[in-house]
Amino acid sequence: MAKILYFNIPGYGHVNATLPVVAELTRRGHEVIYYCGTDFQGAIESAGGIFRPYPIADLDSRMIVRISRHLANVSSYLLKSARTLAPFAIAEIEREQPDLVMYDAVTIWGRIAAAVTGTPSIASYTVMVNEGRKIEIGCRKMAVFAATAIPKLPGLAIHRRALIKAYGEDIMHAPLFPSKAQKNIEFILPSFQPESQFVDDSFVQVGPSIDPALRQEAPWQPLDTALSQVLISLGTVNNRNTHFYRTAFAAFADYPAQFILSAGKLVDMDQIGAVPGNFLVKESVPQLQVLQQSAAFITHGGMNSVQEGLYYGVPLVVVPQQMEQFINGKRVAELGAGVLLDKGDGLTPEQLRSALDTVLTMPSYTQAARALGQEGQAAGGYVRAADEIEAFLGRVSKQFIEEHAGKIRVLSGYLLD
Ligand code: UDP
Repeated sequence: MAKILYFNIPGYGHVNATLPVVAELTRRGHEVIYYCGTDFQGAIESAGGIFRPYPIADLDSRMIVRISRHLANVSSYLLKSARTLAPFAIAEIEREQPDLVMYDAVTIWGRIAAAVTGTPSIASYTVMVNEGRKIEIGCRKMAVFAATAIPKLPGLAIHRRALIKAYGEDIMHAPLFPSKAQKNIEFILPSFQPESQFVDDSFVQVGPSIDPALRQEAPWQPLDTALSQVLISLGTVNNRNTHFYRTAFAAFADYPAQFILSAGKLVDMDQIGAVPGNFLVKESVPQLQVLQQSAAFITHGGMNSVQEGLYYGVPLVVVPQQMEQFINGKRVAELGAGVLLDKGDGLTPEQLRSALDTVLTMPSYTQAARALGQEGQAAGGYVRAADEIEAFLGRVSKQFIEEHAGKIRVLSGYLLD
């Protein structure tokens, strides 16, 4: 049975989809040692993994929230952390001698350590790959992106140069993110991944990796209502948008539906105003359970939320809070399973209400979402991911035996003599 080291970052969006895979691998007898922030220890251990913390005390989900407002911040922070975590990961690999290294595709220290130690590696993706695609994002968005990215460039360059000096140019070849491995597993629907030269035959889309039993959440009592249910959530990171919550209250206070709003732990509830009678507001909800009873999902467009909504055949209204979510929302709209509503702080109650009307009243949106849900079920999810990992391990050991066949024959000849 194999020993696997898994390196990830402590963000729910990056960890959630990997937990069912860890559970499936451990059920099959493999050992998975999982490196993450301490706030994920319980979830990883419940999935059957062996938890190990990073030697950066404040690298936890709160840090991921702090850096995630702009993508350039995230890149800069990850490169800076890699200067500490790559030597750490290399030492761990040398000590543990695993058969395989797995890492989330933004966890660059995983790629560096696998390459430096010559350990077979698999990257897992909770994002779609957009490399080599032309995406129309508009001048306003581009200007905002440039304004936030440019101040970060000198810091990025310093960390990048330091990593190249330590580990060589090859390891840092572009693109840095996502960090491709020998085998690449995407936790997204096959038809969600657009054409990209980066996505070659080392990639497989296994669909959403979902197992509600592995989410550490209280059981959800379905609401006693004859009204359609609508889930609203801006996810776990960019969710402090009081303007959005107030707009939702104004849009839907007299709408004939029951709304469940997950507002996150960080928003000041006093600032979001009086809660209408048809809203249930929580810091967090068991999203997988709630989605199964929802007629529509108003989401920020985080990749997990998008995949989970579609997996349960729920049409989406995507209200992106940053660039990646905007791109995800565009893809949802292209696939006909939802509406992209990208109005930033200019979002009005009328626009939000009209978008929800559209997905609830035009059957094509629910039909497209359900068809994608069926595709997700057929793609195999975490079971297929575990199959792919085992197949890769099988190929690696066969290759090893072939490469060392001469030596093994000599050795066995010696032993037999
Ligand atoms: N989530 C949840 N309950 C909530 C809000 C979010 O279980 O009230 C989960 C959701 O199911 C998803 C993850 O948190 O798996 C959010 O990931 P996503 O990629 O959608 O967005 P992010 O939080 O990373 O922006």
